[in-house]
Amino acid sequence: MTELLEQLTKGDRRALSRAITLIESTRADHRERAISLLSHLPPRQALRIGLSGTPGVGKSTFIEAFGTMLTEQGLRVAVLAVDPSSARSGGSILGDKTRMETLSRNPLAFIRPTPSNAQLGGVARRTRETIRLCEAAGYDVVLIETVGVGQSETLVAEMSDLFTLLLAPAGGDELQGVKRGIMEMADLILVNKADGDLLPTARRTVADYAGALRLLRKRAQDPEGFPKAKAVSAATGDGLKEAWAEMRALADWRREHGHFEANRAAQARHWFMAELRAGLLARLDEPDVRAELQRLGDEVAAGDVAPGVAAARMLDRLKGMSG
Ligand code: GDP
Repeated sequence: MTELLEQLTKGDRRALSRAITLIESTRADHRERAISLLSHLPPRQALRIGLSGTPGVGKSTFIEAFGTMLTEQGLRVAVLAVDPSSARSGGSILGDKTRMETLSRNPLAFIRPTPSNAQLGGVARRTRETIRLCEAAGYDVVLIETVGVGQSETLVAEMSDLFTLLLAPAGGDELQGVKRGIMEMADLILVNKADGDLLPTARRTVADYAGALRLLRKRAQDPEGFPKAKAVSAATGDGLKEAWAEMRALADWRREHGHFEANRAAQARHWFMAELRAGLLARLDEPDVRAELQRLGDEVAAGDVAPGVAAARMLDRLKGMSG
């Protein structure tokens, strides 16, 4: 364990992969080692950037180009994914290295695909812990990719310092069905494919979204002008430097005004409670507890005990039962 930790904090990519495999494991002894590892990580920080967009909007092309640009500035970049498995049949696997061929061969980059066969909640928890591992390994930027499906965007926003929404140029005045809640989470809306024939449409789309964003209530954690909409082209690289400058400006401002740390603290508190709830629910699945639940359930069903009384007894007994 100490060797793994040592190699990891030196930035060794194989050690990082091994550590992630360890935290992804559901085996009890692995979990114990993972907890020990997580509790000994140095307090390094990366900028955590959430990135969401529907399939085909250009996420992998964007990450490939944007990530490569960051490495050219000497920054180390990790790419993680929160992939709702239900959505996977419809498109490519998020975080799949073949979607980002240049970046995956870059020694300054680390790409980790979503663990397979996991529930969204489980993926979120592991991704969050993987972010910490990447930070300990000295990565400067952690990009967390997700598709715009159901809960996954919220989960990613809750583990990111900045949340970016990637959109396609759209004709007409329809705001692409982007839900208000998603708009409210976005710090930066990037309209991709602002190149060639699509350029005028992309510009109009940027103006539409900039207008829509202005109608949202101003947030305390934002400087003047944020949230913003910008045009980019992942294909040509246009606007990527500007997008990075916007992200940095926002992160710097939030750091200066205390919002950056306050946000992380609130996130940590949130995830602590989420973990605790998950842990308590998992307790109910343990064999000794299940037997007790079955017995009390039978008594409730027979009308011998009221449901509330049985639940109170069960909670009482859980206190006494060792985990
Ligand atoms: P993802 O499903 O969101 O990861 O999208 P991809 O990165 O796989 O891109 C989907 C399609 O859009 C591909 O055919 C890309 O070549 C194309 N694409 C991505 N970015 C751009 C861009 O900036 N401009 C143009 N014209 N096409 C792009």
